[in-house]
Amino acid sequence: MYNKKRVMIPGPTPVIEPIRYQMGREVQAFGDPSFIKDFKELIDGLRDLFACNGQCFPLAGTGTLAMEMAIANATKAGDHVFIVSHGYFGDRFIEICARKKLNYDVLSAEWGQIVPVEDIRSQLRQKPYAAITISHVDTSTGVRAPIAEIGEMMAEFPETLYILDGVAATGGEFVDMEAMNIDVMFTASQKAFGVCPGIFVLWANQKSLKRRKDLGLIPEYYIDYEKWLPIMQDPSKYFATPAINLVWALKASMEIMRSEGLKARYERHELNARAIQKAFESLGFRVLAGANHRAVTLSNLVYPEGVPDLPFRNAMLELGINVAGGLGPYVGKMVRVGHMGNIDESDLTVLLSGFETALRKVGYKVEYGKAIGVYLKEIEATGN
Ligand code: PMP
Repeated sequence: MYNKKRVMIPGPTPVIEPIRYQMGREVQAFGDPSFIKDFKELIDGLRDLFACNGQCFPLAGTGTLAMEMAIANATKAGDHVFIVSHGYFGDRFIEICARKKLNYDVLSAEWGQIVPVEDIRSQLRQKPYAAITISHVDTSTGVRAPIAEIGEMMAEFPETLYILDGVAATGGEFVDMEAMNIDVMFTASQKAFGVCPGIFVLWANQKSLKRRKDLGLIPEYYIDYEKWLPIMQDPSKYFATPAINLVWALKASMEIMRSEGLKARYERHELNARAIQKAFESLGFRVLAGANHRAVTLSNLVYPEGVPDLPFRNAMLELGINVAGGLGPYVGKMVRVGHMGNIDESDLTVLLSGFETALRKVGYKVEYGKAIGVYLKEIEATGN
């Protein structure tokens, strides 16, 4: 029998039929007029959807390449970068900066907490930073950074580019580049866009495009804004082969976002997240991120006493549900689940029923239907 496998990890997320269909289409030439039209609509559509006054680059690669692209086009050797870290992915910028011979300072929060905005301001006053990096949602901790407050403060530091890692957030968590003074933002296809992995999107505003121009020649080739700008403006030109089917898939995802409406999409994420987090708590799990800075795209759950990590996740897998383990200090102590993108209430009730069954299988007593009841009650009370 074919066993359906549900990817309920924090990315890749489930790919729904209208998007999956694009992956299986017969490939076309990148010079085909109909592809050129589709690519252009995607580039301009994504720019407008997230209020970017500059250029959007949807390119083949994953989120990590977008991180390198953001740094490569904002800095030169010897510059100072300020890294604000809320976990494993915030820390990833450290090695990227070190390899580029950049000077960097890091402020890290205890896992589950945030770096206070006042501490960020004090550090920015210490020296002229070329850029500040921060993850909107750090996937290792489930912490959502106060990006609007940071953006408001960034108006005091016009020489510092505000780089936002939106990999586990964009399309699920509210963001407005213009209103929040965000200069560079990026995400990857496999998260809240609900597309197969392999394409990322980077948005660069006018200020960051000017910074790139002022840098002159940079060592990086594939990820140089200057190489791609002519193609993004006129996709009939060639620099490197676009990921044709992923471009179509991302366009289908963008169209779903447009028809749902971003506001409604954010509200759906918020409602589902708060309801499912209550349900997890009713089973004895602890949501690591503090209540005031908790993501809506995923949940990082510390196990109740006595629930063993691997047997639990294996029991979930036997039920056809894939969930992720903890990272760093939470290896063996945490289960991470994604609830972003094009998932719905039925996916989440199946996930909760899996949790209940898997818990019983590892010997942890759970009343039948308990968590699902909490979830549905919450949805009905605040939702409809
Ligand atoms: N940043 C964040 C916040 C992430 O969650 C991830 C991936 N989990 C990355 C960056 C790296 O993205 P990728 O795995 O697509 O390279």
